[in-house]
Amino acid sequence: MITLQENIDIKEFTTFKVPSICKYFTEITTIDELQEAIDFSRKKKLPLMPLGGGSNILFVKPFNGLVVKINLKGIAETFKNDDYVYASAYAGENWDDFVQSCVSKNYGGLENLSLIPGNVGTSPLQNIGAYGVEIKDCFFSLKALHIESGKVETFTHESCNFGYRESYFKNEGKDKYIILEVTFLLTRRNHKLHMEYGAIQEELIKKNISNPTIQDVREVVMQIRKSKLPDPKVYGNAGSFFKNPVISNEKFELLQKDYPTIPHYQLENHTVKIPAGWLIEQVGWKGRNQKQAAVHNKQALVLINLGNATGNEVYDLSFAIINDVKDKFGIDLTREVNIIS
Ligand SMILES: Cc1cc2nc3c(=O)[nH]c(=O)nc-3n(C[C@H](O)[C@H](O)[C@H](O)COP(=O)(O)OP(=O)(O)OC[C@H]3O[C@@H](n4cnc5c(N)ncnc54)[C@H](O)[C@@H]3O)c2cc1C
Repeated sequence: MITLQENIDIKEFTTFKVPSICKYFTEITTIDELQEAIDFSRKKKLPLMPLGGGSNILFVKPFNGLVVKINLKGIAETFKNDDYVYASAYAGENWDDFVQSCVSKNYGGLENLSLIPGNVGTSPLQNIGAYGVEIKDCFFSLKALHIESGKVETFTHESCNFGYRESYFKNEGKDKYIILEVTFLLTRRNHKLHMEYGAIQEELIKKNISNPTIQDVREVVMQIRKSKLPDPKVYGNAGSFFKNPVISNEKFELLQKDYPTIPHYQLENHTVKIPAGWLIEQVGWKGRNQKQAAVHNKQALVLINLGNATGNEVYDLSFAIINDVKDKFGIDLTREVNIIS
């Protein structure tokens, strides 16, 4: 039986820590409770919003609906053969606890994604990624509840349609499904380590590690993340606020004439990815604030709450940055964070 709370401030359930009133709030630990919550929102004719760790969401307005915190728990595994294991977790498991549990059993594949905040159930939504790895690299399948029919459906790698911080669930499937459980195919031996990212190599060299294990990679990734990213407990934030824009080769060549030092990564399909942090720095926003919302002084891709920011203040700051980048470079920045407006 679910317990409903009315008119609660969602602030403490999100890492941005901006205040916002939700009409109804509940936490569910079973599929039956989830169904009960869906029935309640249907009866009240109110929208339903699943919530995980609240680390990729910004409430700009009060939410006149039911927020359902997904607390489905459990981790399981099945060996495929001597080389691979299927590792599964329910949606409400904390992402990094799951990564830690896999690494401690010597299951390889997720170590570069150590310490990303949030829950397992949300990881496919934006195909979380860091340090050269995305979950799509070892994702196997997921189970999701179709809200309208109440049926549980299985999604394969292909049906999730993963892209850079994108998936089916952020596009056509948005607001239609609640992810219940995710399964990854991980290695049991002959791990494929991803150490292309310069800082990982530097740290391993500093530590005199020439034959790193997946445990070593996890340690190093955690160390780098702690030194580079603002801790939401100190300054509310949701990690990268914007996606790194992808532009055509032609557009890039024109820009490079004016900005010869512009950093970039050549992609397939004649496109180039530009670090959004660099663009934001170039338009002078790094370390600056607008009211109680600011651009972090070490990582310009992260917008922070200086203490008493409202959702609108953060949103307005993002809008000002988007305009300035567009004026100077003709590039459209898009927000990675889910905006509730
Ligand atoms: C300091 C910091 C660093 C970060 N670093 C990274 C990084 O390196 N790489 C990266 O990719 N991301 C990063 N993020 C962003 C964030 O951690 C991820 O996007 C994470 O997957 C969000 O999970 P969550 O459970 O907190 O999602 P929430 O914020 O709770 O929800 C996000 C969206 O998913 C929906 N949702 C929640 N649960 C479900 C469900 N079960 N089924 C369907 N929809 C659901 C919500 O309605 C919402 O729209 C970072 C965030 C912070 C604060």
